[in-house]
Amino acid sequence: MIRLIELSLPLDHTDLDLKSAILRRLNISEDSLVYYTIFKRSYDARKKNTEIRFVYIIDLMTEDDERILQDFKDDVHITRSPDTRYYTVAKAPANLSERPIVVGLGPCGLFAALLLAQMGFKPIVLERGRDVRQRTQDTWALWRKGELTPESNVQFGEGGAGLFSDGKLYSQVKDPKFYGRKVMSEFVRAGAPDNILYVNKPHIGTFRLTGIVAKMREEIIALGGEIHFEAKVADVMLEDNRVQGVQLADGTQYFSRYVVLALGHSARDTFRMLHEKQVFIEPKPFAIGFRIEHPQSLIDQARLGKYAGHPELGAADYKLIHHAKNGRAVYSFCMCPGGTVVAATSEVGRVVTNGMSQYSRNERNANSGIVVSISPEHDFPGHPLAGIELQERLESIAYTLGGSDYKAPAQLVGDFLQGVPSTALGTVEPSYKPGVHLCDLAAALPDYVIDAVREALPAFGKKIRGFDRHDAVLTGIESRTSSPIRITRDSGSFESLNTRGLYPAGEGAGYAGGILSAGIDGIKVAEAVALKMLRDMSES
Ligand code: FAD
Repeated sequence: MIRLIELSLPLDHTDLDLKSAILRRLNISEDSLVYYTIFKRSYDARKKNTEIRFVYIIDLMTEDDERILQDFKDDVHITRSPDTRYYTVAKAPANLSERPIVVGLGPCGLFAALLLAQMGFKPIVLERGRDVRQRTQDTWALWRKGELTPESNVQFGEGGAGLFSDGKLYSQVKDPKFYGRKVMSEFVRAGAPDNILYVNKPHIGTFRLTGIVAKMREEIIALGGEIHFEAKVADVMLEDNRVQGVQLADGTQYFSRYVVLALGHSARDTFRMLHEKQVFIEPKPFAIGFRIEHPQSLIDQARLGKYAGHPELGAADYKLIHHAKNGRAVYSFCMCPGGTVVAATSEVGRVVTNGMSQYSRNERNANSGIVVSISPEHDFPGHPLAGIELQERLESIAYTLGGSDYKAPAQLVGDFLQGVPSTALGTVEPSYKPGVHLCDLAAALPDYVIDAVREALPAFGKKIRGFDRHDAVLTGIESRTSSPIRITRDSGSFESLNTRGLYPAGEGAGYAGGILSAGIDGIKVAEAVALKMLRDMSES
C-alpha cells in the first residue's frame, strides 16, 4: 500500500476529480490503480478570503506499488502506508473458569468490555445508571422540568458522560498502535457515518451515539458478556492487596480477580470508597471556568471568511488559549459548534455546565468552555480528594446563584468585564435548559479565575472579532473538565499501584480526556487484563 499526502483539491471537487488528481500525481493510468481510500481529509483555511481547499491523505494500491515507491523514493509525500489494522492480542480458552468485571459503561468501559468479549473473555459489566432509552428520558426530565435523577443523568448511565455530547472524536494522545482506528471502526460498524474514519475533526452528535452504544451492547451480550444496569458498585472486596470481587449497593456480590474500573470523573462516592479502602489515589490538575455562547454565524465568519456557511465545511470551531498575567492559562474547552449548553450535574443541589450538539450542528449558537487550569500544589493542597471537595463547593454555589432550581447562573460578557450584574439579555439567547438566572458571576469562582478570564476575553476578541461582544453569554459553572484525581496504575501491568487485579482506566482514573482517548484506554486495559488472565491460567 502507498500513502500519498498533501493532495489538495478545491472544495467543490467531485470523486472523479479526486481520482484524476491521484492518477496525475503518480503518473499512472486508470487501469494501474487497484483501489484508493481516503485516510484523512482536512481543510486549509489560511486563505479564507481567497480559496479554502481540501487537503487529503490517500492510501492506495496499484498494480506495482514497489515500482512507484522506487520511482518516488525522494518524494516525501509518497511513502509506504503504515498498517493501521487492529490485531487481537489474546484468545480465551473454551474452559474459561473466571470472568473479568468491567465497572462503568462509558466509552472506556464499553471498549474494554467489547474487546474482552471479542477475545472470548465474556466480561460482566456493572453500570450504575440505566440503559440509553431510560436514561435519555431521565436526562430530559432535568432539562425540561428541573427534575434530577441522581443515578441516571448526563454523567451516569449506558454510554457514560459522552452520550449527550457533541460526539467529537479526536484526541491528541499518542497512538502508535492505531487503537483510535479500532475505536472509529467499531463505531462505524455500529452505525456511525463512515466519514468519521477520515474527516479531520470527526463527530457523531448525540442522537446517533445513543443508537451506536445500544448496538455495541448487543454485540457484547451476543459474545457471551453480561450487562447489568442500575448496578452501582459500592465496595471492592480485597485480600492481601489483591481484588477478589465487588459488591453492589444492593448487596449483590460478583467475584473476580480482574476488575476494570472505568468510572468516569463524576463517581465521587466511588472515589471516596476506594480511598477508604486505601487504593492509591493522588490529586491531579484540572480546570474550572464558564461556558460561553455566541451566534454560530459570528464564528463561521471569523474562521471561514467568504466560505462561511459552505455546506462542505459545516459549522466552524475554534481553539483559543491565553496566558494571563497572574500566571494562569485560560483556554477554550470542548467547543461545540451549532450546539447547546447542557445541565450536566449528577448531584442534588449542584449546577455544572457542558456542551452538546446533534450531528447536523445546526443550532443557532456556538458554545465552549472558557476555563482556567488549576493544580493541587497551588489551589487545592493537602488531601488526595481535595479537588473533589473544591468541585462540590463551587457547584453548590452555582446552584444557589442560579436560584436553587437547577437554572444556571449567567451573565453577559460586557457586564462580566465591567463587574456589574446582568439584568437583561441581548440578542444572544442562552440555550441552557431548564434556563438561566442572570446575576454577577464573579461570586461563582475564585478571584484568580475571574481575573484571568476577564483578561482573556478581550484577548480572544482580537483573534475572533466579536468574541468579547457585550451580549455574548457566560453560563456557570464548568467544573468537570477532567478528573481531579488519578488512580495511579503501574505503567507495565496497568494494575493499581498498590492493589493487584484492579485496573483503573479512562477519564475517572486520570488516563483519558474525551471519548476517543477513553475508548483507546479501554482497549489497552482490556489487552492487559486478557494477557494477565492467560498468564495466570498457564501458571495455575
Ligand atoms: P464516563 O463516560 O464518565 O463513564 C463512566 C461510567 O461509569 C458512567 O456510565 C457511570 O455511570 C459509571 N459508574 C461510575 N461509578 C460507578 C459505580 N460505582 N458502579 C457502576 N458504574 C459506575 N468528549 C469528547 O471527546 N467529545 C465530546 O464532544 C464530548 N462532549 C461531552 C459533552 C458532555 C455533556 C459531557 C458530560 C462530556 C463530554 N465529553 C466529550 C467528555 C467525554 O464524555 C468523557 O471524556 C468520556 O465519556 C470519558 O469516558 P469514560 O468511559 O472514562 O467515563
